[in-house]
Amino acid sequence: MDRDQRAGGPGSTDRWWDSYAARASGMVASEVRALFAVASRPEIVSLAGGMPAVDALPLEAVASTVADLVRSRGPVALQYGSAQGDPELRARICDVMGMEGITDARPDDVVVTVGSQQALDLLTRVFIDPGDVVLTEGPTYVTAINTFAAYQARVVHVPMDGDGLVPDALRETLTRLASAGARVKMLYTVPTFQNPAGITLTAPRRAEVLETCRRAGVLVVEDNPYGLLSFTGAPVRAMRADAPDDVVYLGSFSKTLAPGLRVGWALAPQPVAARLVLAAESAILSHSMFTQLAVERYLATQPWPEQIKTFREMYRDRRDAMLETLADTMPAGTTWTRPEGGFFVWLTLPDGVDAKAMLPRAIAARVAYVPGTGFYADGSGRDAMRLSYCYPPPERIQDGVKRLAEVLRAEIGLRRAFAGDPATDPSSQ
Ligand code: PMP
Repeated sequence: MDRDQRAGGPGSTDRWWDSYAARASGMVASEVRALFAVASRPEIVSLAGGMPAVDALPLEAVASTVADLVRSRGPVALQYGSAQGDPELRARICDVMGMEGITDARPDDVVVTVGSQQALDLLTRVFIDPGDVVLTEGPTYVTAINTFAAYQARVVHVPMDGDGLVPDALRETLTRLASAGARVKMLYTVPTFQNPAGITLTAPRRAEVLETCRRAGVLVVEDNPYGLLSFTGAPVRAMRADAPDDVVYLGSFSKTLAPGLRVGWALAPQPVAARLVLAAESAILSHSMFTQLAVERYLATQPWPEQIKTFREMYRDRRDAMLETLADTMPAGTTWTRPEGGFFVWLTLPDGVDAKAMLPRAIAARVAYVPGTGFYADGSGRDAMRLSYCYPPPERIQDGVKRLAEVLRAEIGLRRAFAGDPATDPSSQ
């Protein structure tokens, strides 16, 4: 199906295509989701999805927490709740954020959401009019791009280097957009163990980015689902810790507990939090009390910090397996990032190799990745891919990377042959 048909253009089999709101045309499936069905076939090593390794959770402990909850607080857990979320859970969330240096958060300023994804959706709904600009890192989290597109925002990327978002580039972009009369509403950033690049914004740059946005009147949205998954031990200090009035912080239990519970949150300045609650009310009436209280009870009764430590060590081993195999197998001209936490490595291919064009050959060789283009709103990223090491065990990661290196070598050979490169042209030897 081409984009026109999917979006309801002429030729669509959807009898309602003429009735959809204009914003519906911005709603497209993410490249990651499109890959999901193929990549989840058992013979394929998937370095594509970003699924947490929930099999490392103590399922017995989860089961007994849930059973206790139903027995002791069943009528509350099974009842409607408020759109802002359960107060006890919000208090615990404030303690969790304390681990990242946020010591002044009040439960009143926290809004519990259906994963942090819903917090992003509500925030976009509250702040963005069609045509408003959202700045993001380039590359950035694919579903954030889709959320912004669904509200008809214009996404403008600001480049990163190994130290994260480049402050000079941010200033230049703001100046350029201001002189073009654009309304820049927010900077959406994943400053810690970024999805997809695995890069962390350095402390001096955090201060610079905050100051630049403050001066420009641009809200900073700090999306931080991976912050506690640091391989060096100490969690990275959140940007919100140093700028309570300028930052909306998005957090999640998806990577440190379980994504199936769908419990995330926003911490926002009070007036913003109040609007998010109104937006949540119209979206979902009330969040699931059941999963909120399950999380609250789990944090209260189980050794959750130990669980995070287990996750950290497991993901660090997987990261190591990936980095070591990349170093052993990748052809010259390939480069990659070295994440200090989180789930992802960003791989840049040798000159002229197109990650999207190569994907069918990788799938045929039983390895999957996400082409870099999925993480840009403007078609950039053809020469790059995201590799995730979160889900497969280390031996599978090693196999997958080896297969990928073989596919890449073949691709380079093919390109040289087509370009008549004397290095591979048999007639020249
Ligand atoms: N932000 C980023 C950067 C993510 O990687 C993800 C999950 N892949 C989310 C938000 C959404 O997480 P949640 O499960 O909390 O909705």
